[in-house]
Amino acid sequence: MKEIVPTPPAIVHNEQQAVLGLFQKYVVPSYGRFELVLARGQGSHLWDVNGKRYLDLGGGIAVCSLGHANAEITEALVEQSRRMVHVSNLYYHEPQGRLAQQIVRHLAPGKVFFSNSGAEANEGLYKLARKFGHDEGRFEIITALNSFHGRTLAGIAATGQEKVKKGFEPAVQGFKHVPYNDLQAMRDAITPATVAILIEGVQGEGGIAPASPEYLLGLRQLCDERRILLLMDGVQCGHFRTGRFQSFQRLLEGIAGAEKFLPDGVSMAKSLGGGFPIGAFWVREEHHGVKLCDLLGPGTHATTYGGTPLGCAVANKVFEVIERDRLADNARATGAWMKAELEKLAGQFPHVIKGVRGLGFMLGLELAEHIPAFENTGKVASLNFVNRLHDAGVLTVPSGTHVVRFLPALNLRREDAAEGVALITGVVKAIA
Ligand SMILES: *Cc1c(COP(=O)(O)O)cnc(C)c1O
Repeated sequence: MKEIVPTPPAIVHNEQQAVLGLFQKYVVPSYGRFELVLARGQGSHLWDVNGKRYLDLGGGIAVCSLGHANAEITEALVEQSRRMVHVSNLYYHEPQGRLAQQIVRHLAPGKVFFSNSGAEANEGLYKLARKFGHDEGRFEIITALNSFHGRTLAGIAATGQEKVKKGFEPAVQGFKHVPYNDLQAMRDAITPATVAILIEGVQGEGGIAPASPEYLLGLRQLCDERRILLLMDGVQCGHFRTGRFQSFQRLLEGIAGAEKFLPDGVSMAKSLGGGFPIGAFWVREEHHGVKLCDLLGPGTHATTYGGTPLGCAVANKVFEVIERDRLADNARATGAWMKAELEKLAGQFPHVIKGVRGLGFMLGLELAEHIPAFENTGKVASLNFVNRLHDAGVLTVPSGTHVVRFLPALNLRREDAAEGVALITGVVKAIA
């Protein structure tokens, strides 16, 4: 692919200042943003308004599954928008039905509800769980510490991190948190009011932490014994990022007794739309003798935009390209190559990189506790490191205070991955 970089005109520096000025004046300052003003992208590269080129290993936080300015996504958008963009869920249309079929085909018999975001997808799962337990007076949902489930009021109640809750009390009732990957803690936390357990297969915001196979199998057994729903948040770790459609499918590969493992519900968003905002949850056909997939009957749950013809046409295209181009295999193989390279780097510079976590295209660099170059900067290590990478021309996503995440496009080319490793190596050497 040939990339043409335009020479920046002389006035562009003012454009950066002008955009920052607009935000300062008119945009609610709820985000901690980096001082980069991005203008356009192509594949796994982005350009800022000054014409500087960046390798995008953050993928818009695991969203841009086919990279930037993907021609097939553009075509799907244009073609569908010429027919119809939106009709509401008062009516039927083919793209939504077909997308639901795709999701079911990749999981197991069940049905799908469409939302507009990850938080809303999880919101649907909370309502499903409450409906399931309602007549028995059960409502409590147990999640993991360091989890992340979105920023709605129920989302921050479900999220196992104090920082998202602070200042927004009183919290939505009925959520509690236990240490992740600790089966006994989960067992001990269950009460007669418990109706569901919700976990991420690989914690994303929590610093790239995969669930152990024993944990997943143990949770399934526990849920079966206590008639509790096992729900999985696949918003970040889903959609082929780990090398399989959902992370549990990858994490349980080759594990004896895991063939029949299935959660009762799975939420998704981020990579599902490749950048078009769309979320969904899948619910299993039947479990515990209840027809789970029909629990939310007419009138019980809705959203105006959910599963528009336009959003579904794009998501269908994303599915099609991922399968045709075997991008799950690319995430698995190129991710493994990157991980091995980064582990070598960690071995060479243990005073900068403590370790490498994750799998596929969901990787995390764990930074060392005390990096002299970062002392007295007033910023946590992850932010310092991300800023250094920006200077070197690489975009990544911080996770907590000491982890830097890589969540690239699923079609990241090997040569782009190699460019990333080389640039990261340069930054680590400069810090060491
Ligand atoms: C991003 C994320 C969410 C929230 O998704 P939004 O689209 O931002 O609402 C929920 N769960 C996980 C695991 C996420 O990474």
